[in-house]
Amino acid sequence: MVNVRILGDPVLRKKAEPVTDFSIVRSLIEELKILMYQEDGVGLAAPQLGISLRFFGMDDGTGFKMIVNPEILERADEKETGEEGCLSIPNVFADIERSRWVRVRYQDEHGSYHEELLQGYSARIFQHEYDHLDGILFIDHLDSKARTALSQQLKKIMEGRKKYQEK
Ligand SMILES: [Zn+2]
Repeated sequence: MVNVRILGDPVLRKKAEPVTDFSIVRSLIEELKILMYQEDGVGLAAPQLGISLRFFGMDDGTGFKMIVNPEILERADEKETGEEGCLSIPNVFADIERSRWVRVRYQDEHGSYHEELLQGYSARIFQHEYDHLDGILFIDHLDSKARTALSQQLKKIMEGRKKYQEK
């Protein structure tokens, strides 16, 4: 069983590569689902499993979906603030501004294309997970004041990761 990669792990900062072999995605669905639900997550991206490929799983309350090679085709100018957390940054929550809606295109685990208009909570999850594929974490969206307020907590998480890895 793989562990969720924690802040400070370089894989979380890498730009992930497009998926060409969909069997890799299919072989990871079960593991991704288990990890995501076990940690009470609503989304989990491949880089968080140490896999630098462009896919993620999400569940906005309507069921689990695999999102492969996603694109954001259009986004609302209008922003909405909501609280976010991330399984790679345990126990840290912050208000983040996201576009109110996004029009997206992605492939499923079989390679079929889907186009959807996502709003509110679904749009927020999608934008958060999509960021992971470009090496962006939700804390990067904070202003310097909010980031400073969290700096001790973030430092502790990174130190904890090192200790765990060195064992
Ligand atoms: Zn995350």
